[in-house]
Amino acid sequence: MEDFHGLIGLRRAFRAGKTRGIEWRMCQLRALLKLVSENEARFFEALEQDLGKHPVEAYRDEIGVLKKSADHALLNIKKWMAPKKGHLPLLLFPSRAEVLPEPLGTVLIFGSWNFPISLTLDPLVGAISAGNTVVVKPSELAPACSSLICQTIPLYLDREAIRVVEGGSDVADKLLQQQWDKIFFTGSPRVGRIIMTAAAKHLTPVTLELGGKCPVILDSFSESDLKVVVKRIVGGKWGPCAGQACIGIDYLLVQKKLASHLIESLKACIKKFYGDDVKSLQSICRIVNKNHFDRVCSLLEEPSVGASVIYGGSLDRENLMIEPTVLLDPPVDAPIMTDEIFGPLLPIITLDKIEDSIDFINARPKPLAIYAFTHNNKLKDQILQETSSGSVTFNDTMIQFICDSLPFGGVGQSGFGRYHGKYSFDTFSHEKAVLHRSFYLELEPRYPPWNDFKLEF
Ligand code: NAD
Repeated sequence: MEDFHGLIGLRRAFRAGKTRGIEWRMCQLRALLKLVSENEARFFEALEQDLGKHPVEAYRDEIGVLKKSADHALLNIKKWMAPKKGHLPLLLFPSRAEVLPEPLGTVLIFGSWNFPISLTLDPLVGAISAGNTVVVKPSELAPACSSLICQTIPLYLDREAIRVVEGGSDVADKLLQQQWDKIFFTGSPRVGRIIMTAAAKHLTPVTLELGGKCPVILDSFSESDLKVVVKRIVGGKWGPCAGQACIGIDYLLVQKKLASHLIESLKACIKKFYGDDVKSLQSICRIVNKNHFDRVCSLLEEPSVGASVIYGGSLDRENLMIEPTVLLDPPVDAPIMTDEIFGPLLPIITLDKIEDSIDFINARPKPLAIYAFTHNNKLKDQILQETSSGSVTFNDTMIQFICDSLPFGGVGQSGFGRYHGKYSFDTFSHEKAVLHRSFYLELEPRYPPWNDFKLEF
C-alpha cells in the first residue's frame, strides 16, 4: 500500500503512544511558540506577500492569536487531560465513574487563506493538545504562508507525528480519499459538502468552520456612544483582511430615521482610518486574487446595486484593491444580499423599526455571528431568544474571536463543531466513559430466573 505523505508513519506513531503523554504535547506546543517567535519577521513578510497584510494587523489577527492559544493550552492542558468524575446513581453503589478524554488518532486539518497562519495553526494547537498525530493542509491561495508553514513545521515539530501537505483541490481530493479519525475544515459551504461526503465513507467525524452573512443590528445611540459604535463597525468591517473574514460584518440593519446620520459618521471614520484614494489606500489588505476580486466586483454590477453605492466603489484590479464601499438599500434579492460578500462592501438596509431586524435575519440562513449595538435589554433578549447563530456579540464586532472561554463555530449553514480554548481540546478528543465496579454488594434481582418477587422488587 502506498504511504501517502507518510500517513502510515503517523498512524504507527499514534499507535505506539508517542503523542499521548503530556510531556510530548507540551513540548510540541512550546516548539510551536518557538517557531512563531523565531520566524515572526518571515511570517509578516509572507502575509504581506499573500494579502498585503500590515505587520500590526498580522500580529493582532494571526501571530498574537496563535501565541495566545498555545499559551492558554500550555497553562490548562493538565487540567483538560485529567479524568472528570461522573455522578453515580445509588443503584451502582459502590462504583466509580469517570470521563476520560482520549486522542482521536490521526487527524486532517484544512486551513484557509484569509488568516492563513492563525486559521491553520490554531486548530493544530487543539490537535496537539489532545494528543493526535496530524496532517495540516494550508490553503494554496496563500502560497507564501503555505510554503513557510511547510518549511518551518518540520524544523521545530515532531516529524513523526506532524506533517504539512501543500497543494490545491487535487491534493485535497487525494487527502480526502484516505481514512482519518477527524477532519477539521475551514472554508466555504460548497467545499464543506465535499468534505462531508468524503468523510461519510469512513464515518469520519468532521468539524466544518464555514461562513455566511453576519449582520449588524444598530439601535439608536447617544452622540458620544455613536462615535465608539462607528469605530467598532468600521474597524470590524474593513480591519480584519479587508472584510475577507468569516465573522466579518456582511450587512448592517438600521432604522430609516437614523440612517443619514449614521452614514455621515461612517464616511468620516472610513476616511480617517483608511484614507480615500484607492491607489494609496492605507492599512487595508488587498483582495486575495483576481478570481475573488472579480467575484466581489460582480456583486456591484447590477445597475440597481451600483446605484445604491453611497461611498467608495473605486476598483483597482491591477493591485487587487477595492475601496471601502457602502451601499444604501440595495435590492434584497440581488446577489450582494443573498451571497456571502467576503470583501470590503457594506450594504446598509433600512427598516421601519429595529425589531424588524429579527424577521430579516430569520428569513436567511443562520449566520456565523450576529452583532447588535443596543442598550435595550428587551431587544437583546429578543435577539438571543428569537434568532439562531454561531455567536452573538453585543456592542462590539469580531472581538469574540479571541475569547478562549467561548466556543467558536457555526450552526446550520455556517457550519458545525466548535473550537478555541478547551473547546479545541474537546474537538480533537473522544470522551471515553469509564465505570469502575466493585465486588461488594450484589443485586441478585438483576439476574434470571424472573419471578413475581423480582417484579415487585
Ligand atoms: P474554499 O472552500 O474554496 O477552500 C478551502 C479549502 O478547500 C482549500 O484548502 C482548498 O484546497 C480546498 N478545496 C477547494 N476545492 C476543493 C475540492 N473540490 N475538493 C476538496 N477540497 C477542495 O474556501 P475559501 O475560498 O478558501 O474561503 C472562503 C470561505 O471560507 C467563506 O465562505 C468563509 O466564510 C469561510 N471561512 C470560514 C471561517 C471560519 O472560521 N468559520 C474562516 C475563514 C473562512
